[in-house]
Amino acid sequence: MKEFKLGKIYQGQLKKGSDIAQGLTKFLKDNKIKAGIIKGIGAVESAKLGYFNQQTKEYEERYFNENMEIVSLTGNISLKNDEPFPHLHAVFSKKDFSLVGGHLLSDTLVYAFEFEIVTFEGQAHIREFDQVIGLFIWND
Ligand code: ZN
Repeated sequence: MKEFKLGKIYQGQLKKGSDIAQGLTKFLKDNKIKAGIIKGIGAVESAKLGYFNQQTKEYEERYFNENMEIVSLTGNISLKNDEPFPHLHAVFSKKDFSLVGGHLLSDTLVYAFEFEIVTFEGQAHIREFDQVIGLFIWND
């Protein structure tokens, strides 16, 4: 567990066609943000989601080549390999109003995307690979 003081709060958008995960990572690096939370809504042209299979300890990826609403995108910010890293999950709605969701991966492309980032001041969590879990999780 860590305790932080509230830092800056940003509200911004990513351009049509940009990659959400890459765009947010660049925003964090450009603004030297190491800890905090991310929220976003909007729409995507296409999306790629991951499901972590706890038995095989591997991500199963699914690409959705369809236009969808971003019902909710949420995430946290910490350090991985000494770089700011956004861990992102998202729920999307389809034309028939059904939902899909999971761990957000690169190749999720913006149609319109509005986000808020709340930054934390203090010692950021550091992600390290955990052999038992099979994922890069916080080391404390
Ligand atoms: Zn995840």
